[in-house]
Amino acid sequence: MAKGQREVVQAGTPALRNVAREVDPSRIDSGEIQELIAEMTSVCRARGVGLAAPQLGTQLRVIVLEDTTEGMSDVSPGDRAAQRREPFPMKVIINPVLSPVGDASAAFYEGCLSVSGYRAVVRRHLRVKCRGLGGDGSMVDFEASGWMARILQHEVDHLNGVLYTDRMESRTFRRVDKINEPLPPDHPEFGTTVVLGESSIAPKSSAAAPLSADDLENRAKMGRRRKR
Ligand code: ZN
Repeated sequence: MAKGQREVVQAGTPALRNVAREVDPSRIDSGEIQELIAEMTSVCRARGVGLAAPQLGTQLRVIVLEDTTEGMSDVSPGDRAAQRREPFPMKVIINPVLSPVGDASAAFYEGCLSVSGYRAVVRRHLRVKCRGLGGDGSMVDFEASGWMARILQHEVDHLNGVLYTDRMESRTFRRVDKINEPLPPDHPEFGTTVVLGESSIAPKSSAAAPLSADDLENRAKMGRRRKR
């Protein structure tokens, strides 16, 4: 690991559970932010397909993502096609905001550098629109689908203190070396097991449809009412 490069923090670290702060656009060209971006792209290249600043313990709204032919070489062509996984060059997004495009979703196994050694099935929007600022402060506005859309939703979740384990089909949670074992059967208490692949039904909750403060308050009220 390069000099001064931090380790990816693991689940249980408070930095992964807080809502990260927006970056002041006037500070993007500062040494602090540029060094953070350099460190994040280096860790992402070495370790995975995406990284959010809180995973290095920095509570700022910065994500990086990249997928390469080499990085996906352990995924079969059939799985790659089903996941709509295509290589794309390194993207740096500051203060990203996602919005879902359509209702379609996809359920696939997903992992996280901060939940080292495990995987679980997570349903995500198949398509999202992403707006934010690039590493040079320029406007970023694009639509992503398939695996790239999944990575974006996973990384933006990190900025909101959310881990994939909060959204996973919990009975599919497993060690990474068990990824090819069958999905669990239907269960009398936990219901029908998820089917891998795409669906026309939107995910129940997602980083791409963040709740407003009012929504959160209303939910809290409803929760209190139900308990009575
Ligand atoms: Zn992660």
